[in-house]
Amino acid sequence: MSSVLGLRCKECGERYPKSPVHVCEYCFGPLEVEYDYAEIAKVLTRKRIEDGPMSMWRYRDLLPLDDQPRAGLQAGFTPLFKAERLGEALGHKDLWVKNDAVNCPTQSFKDRVVAVALSKAIEFGYDTVACASTGNLANSVAAQAAQAGLKAYVFIPNNLERSKVVGTLIYGATVLSVQGNYDDVNRLCSEVAGKYPWAFANVNIRPFYGDGSKTYGYEIAEQLGWRAPRHVVSPVGGGSLIGKIRKGLWELAEFGLIEKRETSMYAAQAAGCNPVSGAIKAGTDMIRPVRPDTIAKSIAIGNPADGYYAVKAATTSGGWGDDVTDEEIVEGMRLLARTEGIWTETAGGVVVGVAKKLIEQGRIPRDETTVLAITGNGLKTIEAVEDHIGETLPIHPTLDSLEAALGA
Ligand SMILES: *Cc1c(COP(=O)(O)O)cnc(C)c1O
Ligand SMILES: [Zn+2]
Repeated sequence: MSSVLGLRCKECGERYPKSPVHVCEYCFGPLEVEYDYAEIAKVLTRKRIEDGPMSMWRYRDLLPLDDQPRAGLQAGFTPLFKAERLGEALGHKDLWVKNDAVNCPTQSFKDRVVAVALSKAIEFGYDTVACASTGNLANSVAAQAAQAGLKAYVFIPNNLERSKVVGTLIYGATVLSVQGNYDDVNRLCSEVAGKYPWAFANVNIRPFYGDGSKTYGYEIAEQLGWRAPRHVVSPVGGGSLIGKIRKGLWELAEFGLIEKRETSMYAAQAAGCNPVSGAIKAGTDMIRPVRPDTIAKSIAIGNPADGYYAVKAATTSGGWGDDVTDEEIVEGMRLLARTEGIWTETAGGVVVGVAKKLIEQGRIPRDETTVLAITGNGLKTIEAVEDHIGETLPIHPTLDSLEAALGA
C-alpha cells in the first residue's frame, strides 16, 4: 500500500508526480512529500505501530515508500531516557535525552534520512547514490549503500574530522574531498546532480530524505508514553531536522495518537556558524549566510537550504534559538559525558550548551518536559575534546607506583 500522493511545493502548492525532483519549476520553492492522510488514518493505530519492528520502520505507514524498505533496516528506535543527573546540573526537573549517538549503522540521526533516501533511490531505479555531506551523512550513505549493493560517491569539505573520513572510506565509497567549505560542496553537487544519473540523498531526492527525520519526533512521543514534550532543543545545520521533528509530532496529533499540544522548538547552533539562531535573535526570518568557523563541523552550514523554515519552526511554535562558543561546546560534551555517560559529538555539545543558556534565561521553564536532541557520537570528533579531558596516569605494574601516582 502506498499513501504517497506525490510532491507539492511548500511555497506555491504546485503538485509534481513522485520523482527525483526537489525544487519547484515555478517559484523555486522546496518540494515536500504529500500523503493521503485519510488513507493512512484507516489503518494507523498505536497498536499497529507498537507491534512493528524495533526500528524506525515501525512508522512505515508515515514514510514515503511504495515498497518494502531496502536500506537502513536497523535504523532508529534509539533510547529516550530521563536525564536526572544532567537535569540536576542544569537546574531542570524534567529533562530527557533522545540518544541518536547510538543509531544504527553509523551512530548519528543521519541513518534515518539515509534509510528512506536509499530505499527510495532503489525504487526510482538508481544503482548509484551520492551526497554532499558535513561528515555524518557521508558515513551513513557509504555504509547503507554498501549494505544495499549500491555504488556511492560522497562529497565532503576537505577539513573534516579524521574519524568521519575513515568512517566513510571503510565502506568502499568513492570520497571526493573538496577544497572548500560545505556550501561550496553543496553548490558543486547541485551541478553534478544535473549531469550524472545519481541519486543525491540531499539534493534531487531531498524531499524523501527529509521525511526520514520525522521518525525522530514520532519516537519521542511514543517513548514518552504517547505524548508530545513541551519543549525540544534541536541542533540546526541545513535546517531540516528541527522542522521534521515538529511535523512528526503534529502528524501524530492529527491521527489522534497523541493529544494536541504545542511543542516549542529551539534551534541550537554554534556561535561560529549561526545563520538560523542569529536570525531568530535578530527578529527576522531572512537568513544572512555566514562563513563557518567552528569545531561543530557537522552543523557548519553557512547558507542552510531549509534555514528559513528552521527559523519559522522555532518562532511559530513559541520557541527560540541561541548559539554557543567552541569552549561552551566542549563544556557541553564534557557535562553530558560526566553526568549521563553519553559521549556525544560536537553537535550534541551545542545542544547541551544552548539548553543550559535557555534554562538560565528562563525561556525553558525548569519543570516542563524538555527533550534534548542528541544526534551524533563523540567517537567521531575526538579532536574537539582530546586536549580538554585530562591525561592518563602512567604507572609501573606495582602497588607502590599506583599509590605514588594517586598521591596516596
Ligand atoms: C546533519 C546533522 C545535524 C543537522 O541536521 P539538519 O537537518 O541539516 O539541520 C545535526 N546533528 C548532526 C550530528 C548532524 O550530522
Ligand atoms: Zn512553487
